[in-house]
Order: sequence, then C-alpha cells, then structure tokens
Amino acid sequence: MERKIFLSEDEMPRYWYNILPELPTPLKPPLNPQTKEPLKPEDLKAIFPNAIIEQEMSNQKEIPIPEKVLEIYSLWRPTPLVRAYNLEKALGTPAKIYYKNESVSPAGSHKPNTAIAQAYYNKIEGITTLTTETGAGQWGSALALAGALLGLNVRVYMVKVSYEQKPFRRSMIHLWGAEVYPSPSDRTEAGRRALKEDPNNPGSLGLAISEAVEDAATHNNTNYALGSVLNHVLLHQTIIGLEAKKQFEKIGDYPDVVLAPCGGGSNLGGIGLPFIRDKINGKDVRVVAIEPASCPTLTKGVFTYDYGDVAQMTPLLYMYTLGHKFMPPKIHAGGLRYHGDSPILSQLRKDGLLDAVAYKQKEVFEAGVLFAKTEGVVPAPETCHAIKGVIDEALKAKEEGKEKTILFCFSGHGHFDMASYDLYLSGNMEDYELPEEEIEKSIKELELNKKL
Ligand SMILES: *Cc1c(COP(=O)(O)O)cnc(C)c1O
Repeated sequence: MERKIFLSEDEMPRYWYNILPELPTPLKPPLNPQTKEPLKPEDLKAIFPNAIIEQEMSNQKEIPIPEKVLEIYSLWRPTPLVRAYNLEKALGTPAKIYYKNESVSPAGSHKPNTAIAQAYYNKIEGITTLTTETGAGQWGSALALAGALLGLNVRVYMVKVSYEQKPFRRSMIHLWGAEVYPSPSDRTEAGRRALKEDPNNPGSLGLAISEAVEDAATHNNTNYALGSVLNHVLLHQTIIGLEAKKQFEKIGDYPDVVLAPCGGGSNLGGIGLPFIRDKINGKDVRVVAIEPASCPTLTKGVFTYDYGDVAQMTPLLYMYTLGHKFMPPKIHAGGLRYHGDSPILSQLRKDGLLDAVAYKQKEVFEAGVLFAKTEGVVPAPETCHAIKGVIDEALKAKEEGKEKTILFCFSGHGHFDMASYDLYLSGNMEDYELPEEEIEKSIKELELNKKL
C-alpha cells in the first residue's frame, strides 16, 4: 500500500506541453484595446520578453524547459502524487483518490512553476525589473521568490485591503527582497486618478493590473508578469500534469476524472491539458473545473471578447466572462475571484472537452476541513473547491458501486488563510448567493459595450 508516488529529479519532464497546435478549434486572436485589430507581437514588446511572446502564439507541441529553470524547479520538484487513503475510508468510497501536491513549493502553491520561467526569460533578455499585481499575495510572493532566485528586482502592486488585512504574504514578499506597494498608489497615473476620486479607495485586482502594466510600459528594462489566464502561463504549468502522467504510468493506473479549482485557469490547465491531449486522441477521461458559485465564469458566463481589467487597458481576449466590470463578492478564495478565464480553457469548454461545476463557500470549507482531519494537510480555500468536487465524485462512485480513479490538483496550502478557517469554524461564515439579475446585468452591460 504505497501512499506516495515519487519521481526522481532525473525523471522530471524536460519539456512543457503546448496544446495550441492540437486544439480542435483554433483560438480567436487577442485584440488591441485601442484599434480592436488582432494584436501584433510588437504590441506586446513594451511589457513582455520575446521568448514569452513567442510561446504565447507558438505552434510547437513540446517546448524544451531551459536547464536553469529545471535546476530551480528541482528545489521542490518533482512534487509527490499522493493517494488519499484516509479520505477514501472516511467517505466509504470504492474510488481511488490521488492528489498532486503543489503546496510543497517554497511559496506554498503551484504559482512558482510559471514565476520562475517568466523571470528566467526576462533575465536573459536583459530585463532588470518585473512588475505585477497581487490580490491576497499568492502570485506576488511567487514572483518575489523567482526574483530572489534569479537576481531580478520585483515590484508588486497589492490590492490595498489585502495589503492591510493580510500582512503575512506581504512579509514574504519583503523577505524575498521585492518591493510591495498598496494599490491604488501614487506611483502611477492610474493610481493617482483613483486616489483623487476617492482617497479611501480599497483597491481591486483590475486597478492593480492597470498600475503594474503602466509601470512596466513607462520604465526602461522593466517588464510585466501575469500569473494566470494567458497561454504561456498554462504552458509552464503543464509540468504538473506531465509529472502526474509519469507517476500514474509507474503504478499502472490512469485517472477517469481530473479536477482542479479554477480562477484564471493556470493550475487546472497545468494538470488538465496533458490529459485533454489524450482525450482529443480518443482516451476516455473527464477534466472538470471547480469554481465558486459567487464567481461562476465557466458555468454562467458568456463566451465573447472582453477586457482583462476594469480600466480596459489590456488586450481583449475571447473567453468566458462575467464582464470586466463584474465585482465578485468578497469570498475567502481570493484566487478564484476573476471575471474572465483562460482563452484555451474557454475554447475547450465550448467544444465540450472540459466540464465545470460551481459550489458555495460553506460546503467548500466543510470539504477542506474533512480533508485536513483525514489527510492532515490544510488546503488553501481555493483548493477546498476541488476537494468538494472530489468528494462528490467519490460519493457518486459509491452510489454506483464503481471503482474509478480520481486525480485532483492540490494547488496550495492554507497556512496563510487561518482567519478564514476561524470564521468557518466559529459558524460566522456566510454563503454569498449571487442574484441571477446581477450576472445578467453585468453581461448585458458587456454586450452593450461591445461595438466591435
Ligand atoms: C492562485 C491560486 C489558484 C487559482 O488560480 P489559477 O490560475 O486558476 O490556478 C488556485 N489555488 C491556489 C492555491 C492559488 O494560489
């Protein structure tokens, strides 16, 4: 009864998987926000290095991982594939439950997989500083780690409420040597404009994106890094699924269903795309996105062109969206509060190659607590979403008397989210029922806005 399936460092995959050339329906191009014409590679040069721009549009199925990136990955990779025997027993299910434990990275989540790669490509092209935004701080801390390991300055615009209420990820960003400013800040036009309108503006992810992009576009040797949604981010995350496939080969098994929490889609794409590759080639495997009922992008959004930020500065992406002005309720899974979704995952969803389910916050925390009590590890609130999905799959297997194999992405640990657990355990957590009218209103506004 082997609990953990390991790969040696030698067995770590040497390439990332790029699904773009194998998508049944090619993606619609991103559009320039001013001209509404398809984006040209030059449009991105002010904020991204050439290697990343190439990867964003690449037709190469397997892209070699640079030696230096492999070397840094080996600080914590390959990550273990773990059989959750105790959870299976507690559920009385005939299903086999496995999780890919991405919480063992120094930042505690899957996010360093792309942070390291992005910092590397910027470094070799002579960039000295990276800017980015962060909400609760998972992405900001991952990029700060990458900056420390690769010798780059990192400047993080952190949504002001989180900066004030969640001081410990802010401390990690400092510890790894990066600068971090509450957004809105007085360092950018976008920030100054917001502060002039309302000096007490609590900030938002969209506003912080506007600040970070402006900072990068207006400073020499300074680029911007994004932690999710874009094609190159999902590409770097495929190391998760590629490792998992090798681990299943070792034990002669293969998952019937693969689940992951979905915010912008990077950990879901990371674990799921290598399996969707098999599915496109006829394999019987289901991949499922788990999202919050309060921000149900894939389950209730529309598939259309939309901006990535409130200020409409980013290119328009063809994706499932709730509208760039949609303000999701302040649920505790901060990483899942994004109005849009990865264009790759959106197209796969449209083509029936990806399923999606939404859950409410309290049932999600209940699942996370059961996991912590049986398997020991405390999951991040984002990860709890996947666990709720896994439990439902396992109970369905029990009902049907089927012995299926379930895999999910344990995207991160919840050690910095204990205030949320306190709230749940004290019975003071609330479910945010999102009125249907609110989604409809936001989507209507989006359609009106769409004079493309
Ligand atoms: C950021 C984050 C997510 C959601 O982001 P994706 O890009 O959808 O993966 C999920 N889990 C954890 C632990 C995160 O930090």
